Amino acid sequence: MPLLCSRPLLFLNPARAFSSMTTSSVTPKLRGVVFDMDGTLTVPVIDFPAMYRAVLGDQEYLRIKSGSPSGIDILHHIETWRPDKQKRAYEIIADFEKQGSDKLQIMPGASELCEFLNSKNIRRGLITRNVKDAVDIFHKRFGMSFSPALSREYRPYKPDPAPLLHICAIWNMEPDEVMMVGDSLKDDVACGKRAGAFACLLDETGRYDAPEFQDVEFKPDYKVSSLSELRTILENNFNLTSEPNSMVHN
Ligand SMILES: [Mg+2]
Repeated sequence: MPLLCSRPLLFLNPARAFSSMTTSSVTPKLRGVVFDMDGTLTVPVIDFPAMYRAVLGDQEYLRIKSGSPSGIDILHHIETWRPDKQKRAYEIIADFEKQGSDKLQIMPGASELCEFLNSKNIRRGLITRNVKDAVDIFHKRFGMSFSPALSREYRPYKPDPAPLLHICAIWNMEPDEVMMVGDSLKDDVACGKRAGAFACLLDETGRYDAPEFQDVEFKPDYKVSSLSELRTILENNFNLTSEPNSMVHN
């Protein structure tokens, strides 16, 4: 198998694995990479279970959790709540996100990966379910830029493929020339695969190796435990020769 990965690729799409083993002449061209922010470009600091519990209440949290093995879509749940209850929920979420941004740290390997993508003239975008303020803080604090960077204000948000398709349209690229990278199977991988892009799951701890994640509808093409491992995946599996693009960001 040509894929270099430190752990078994349980999610690997068999069709793609087969084609990459037998038809090396069709190495796919990759022209853009779109990243999730929280937990992908930044070290996870938001305590999501605590946030869900605070928004939903203990009983509702446990009820929804038991019916959603791949994770809770909190924004979707509160979308239909009455306005006053919804407002309170958004305040709680904003509070958790604020605490998260105060403690924000860059993900190890993120800067190096950005430099590598720059050296190959590969575009970098960002899609997050967090708010625009958090993206602005991220951009300011770490000196890397991602453009377009779509936040929660862009509707519909992940796992809908719309934000990724929007970025592909702006870049004038086909979705299969782009990879979506993120630490969420239900949001990032689903968004990427629904758009027709490549999807890479960042799973630092191996939590997605658990049996309950094996039967999900959208599976990533690649799974890595670090961003430096992603660089190896890109170098070994994609044609990265891209024409110089004056709009590539630093
Ligand atoms: Mg994330």
